Amino acid sequence: MPELPEVEIVKRGLKNTLTGQKIQSIKRHRHNLRHNIPIALETALGNSRIINFVRRGKYILMELDNQFTVLFHLGMSGKLIVQPLNTRYEKQIHEHLTLITYEEYYLKFIDPRRFGIIDLFLTKKKHKLLINMGPEPLASDEKQSEKYCKELSDYLFKKFKNKKQFIKNVLLDQHIIAGLGNIYVCEALFLSKISPFRRALSLSFEEIYSLIQSIQTILLQAIKAGGSSMRDYVHVNGKRGYFQMQWNVYGKEGEYCTFCLKLNNINKIKRGIQAGRSSFYCDLCQK
Ligand SMILES: [Zn+2]
Repeated sequence: MPELPEVEIVKRGLKNTLTGQKIQSIKRHRHNLRHNIPIALETALGNSRIINFVRRGKYILMELDNQFTVLFHLGMSGKLIVQPLNTRYEKQIHEHLTLITYEEYYLKFIDPRRFGIIDLFLTKKKHKLLINMGPEPLASDEKQSEKYCKELSDYLFKKFKNKKQFIKNVLLDQHIIAGLGNIYVCEALFLSKISPFRRALSLSFEEIYSLIQSIQTILLQAIKAGGSSMRDYVHVNGKRGYFQMQWNVYGKEGEYCTFCLKLNNINKIKRGIQAGRSSFYCDLCQK
């Protein structure tokens, strides 16, 4: 499932290619994904201009000049692909929605497993899926990273005070912090040397601060590497990301821990199950 870095890269691709373009027509190839695609979509989008793309958590928001915003979620296997119109239009397999602009571009929403979401809302109102979402892990301005890290640590320290759940599961809760999924949580816990089996309330302020730093480091590295491409994830131009080459623990059960090897220790990465999902960790490095 695409996580924050992958969604951020797709958003940047959309923003760079489609901002300012005017929608000429909409082809709808089915009526529902995870939820129904709103009936009003064609009316709301027709002849509107795209003024911006914003990411919030794992959602992409396409803001229009007519008071509406379209919300996209890529679900398990969704892709948003942009193509110039000079290629002859051909509906791709699992293509559910196509927008065509006057500037002669297609935007295609393709989703084989159909867990994605396409919805519409009034820009001045918050979409119901965004109302109770936790803060973003990354500062909106990279220069503010350190200040934001401190603010976020204060916030999480308070939030964790009565949380008896495993830290791993708490970090996946989008109401606590937005955008994180299994891959980047496993990697960030490894980098900050915190066991996924620690109870959230047992973390000291210093540990939380170090965890936030690790989360930010991992996310920024992943964005730089174009995200992690597993199965379906691709950029808007169809290219893949390469951050999976830099994973330290995710999917590496039974392989030697690289941090341990540097210290002349020999230990293998373990896999455990938490809330029905795999956790990958080193039980020597992570305490
Ligand atoms: Zn280790």
